[in-house]
Amino acid sequence: MPDGSQGIGGAPGTGAGGGSLWIRDAQVGKVGQQVRQVGQGNEAAQGAQGGEATPVSVLVRGGIIQAMGPGVAPPPEEPVARVLDATGLHLFPSFRNGHTHAAMTLFRGWGDDMPLMPWLETRIWPAEARLTAKDVYRGARLAGLEMIRSGTTYLNDMYWHHRAVARAVGELGLRAHVGAAFLDFGDAERARREREAALRHLEARDDLGPRIRLSLSPHAIYTVSAESLAWLGERARSDGLLLHIHLSENRGEVENCLAEHGVRPAHFLDRLGLVGPWLVAAHGTYLDPGEMEVLAEGGATVVTNPTANLKLATGGIFDYAGARAAGLRVVLGTDGPASNNNLDMVEEMKVAALLQKHRAEDATCLPAREALSLATEAPGEVFGPGPGRVEVGAPADLVLVDLSHPSTQPLHDPVSALVYAAGGRAVHSTICDGHVLMHAGQVEGVDEEEVVAHAVESARRVTGPRY
Ligand SMILES: [Zn+2]
Repeated sequence: MPDGSQGIGGAPGTGAGGGSLWIRDAQVGKVGQQVRQVGQGNEAAQGAQGGEATPVSVLVRGGIIQAMGPGVAPPPEEPVARVLDATGLHLFPSFRNGHTHAAMTLFRGWGDDMPLMPWLETRIWPAEARLTAKDVYRGARLAGLEMIRSGTTYLNDMYWHHRAVARAVGELGLRAHVGAAFLDFGDAERARREREAALRHLEARDDLGPRIRLSLSPHAIYTVSAESLAWLGERARSDGLLLHIHLSENRGEVENCLAEHGVRPAHFLDRLGLVGPWLVAAHGTYLDPGEMEVLAEGGATVVTNPTANLKLATGGIFDYAGARAAGLRVVLGTDGPASNNNLDMVEEMKVAALLQKHRAEDATCLPAREALSLATEAPGEVFGPGPGRVEVGAPADLVLVDLSHPSTQPLHDPVSALVYAAGGRAVHSTICDGHVLMHAGQVEGVDEEEVVAHAVESARRVTGPRY
């Protein structure tokens, strides 16, 4: 691929202004447009080779796509900071990870193939108890590097030391919601301390960085008291914050909720006033149709994390077809890299599509374009900014993908090639807020060896002598 990079963009970690950029001659396919072209047999639009349409250029100013089309160029008197020659590359919206715990890169491969509770009790929780803000910063920085390399520019994160996560991913130029994990285990004194901490976090939410926003993050209904959940729900409603929680991830959670509260988990949250457009519920593996209806009516979002569900053997499979029938918004996430074990949203699209086809016994369920939209357009609706599409007026959060590799040829359909054949390694360039974070496989302004070395050092310290 050509190296058409010229000039220097602004430093992404500083300021919120957004970069100016001219992307020349990319293959651009709006997701829906490509569906129609292929579906209607419009070979002329696709070109003789298949998948090759007229190249399109994109002009970005202030981090926003200002113009796009064949031959679009900045006027000579208003040069842009950066020019990318995208000849032969495919332009897509960048990917948005709806649920993760970025700093858990430190525990990648630390206790694979173990049952959930022994894994948590003997590996993860003892190691997490040793985590400092510095460790979390290093783990999140490694995660950010991995995300940039695989085309992800946004993460919805829940973890301890959320300010360290914000600093790590903010410095790398990414966007995020960060939440401080809230757990009180029904203990009144701990609940009081957690609520005080949450209020402090709220007061300091404006200095997390230009592209970072705070969410409220109760861990789950089985680790947070009903009183604290209701309090957090009220804060989310009154302060206009997202409320990010694990919900209905495994069978035991549902059975215990029914035994203790007489209702299933989503109905329990509804009773406490938590169901609304602010609610982002990770997993939803065991949601039944009635729960989906309540969540859909409230405008809530479910994040499906198929790889983590498979790896941790949760047993159930999220009912995507049921969610669609209920009108429930669904987005895609990787969950933490200790239970995945990577942050590759391209791979996650494939796993999601395959698992749902298998569950529905219907190969038409969750087609490639829809899988792509779960990582682009659907998260744009709930997390922002903008629509998660490549269009005029949208934030320039973009990826250039190289589909020339033998594994993605011949190119009958670029979206199919991306979702089913490519993997995140096909990402050539990653752009966030108009800033080029990676070009031609080179992450810019980052000493990758140092990022990895620091994360490995922290991982060794917190996981102890068995590492
Ligand atoms: Zn999780």
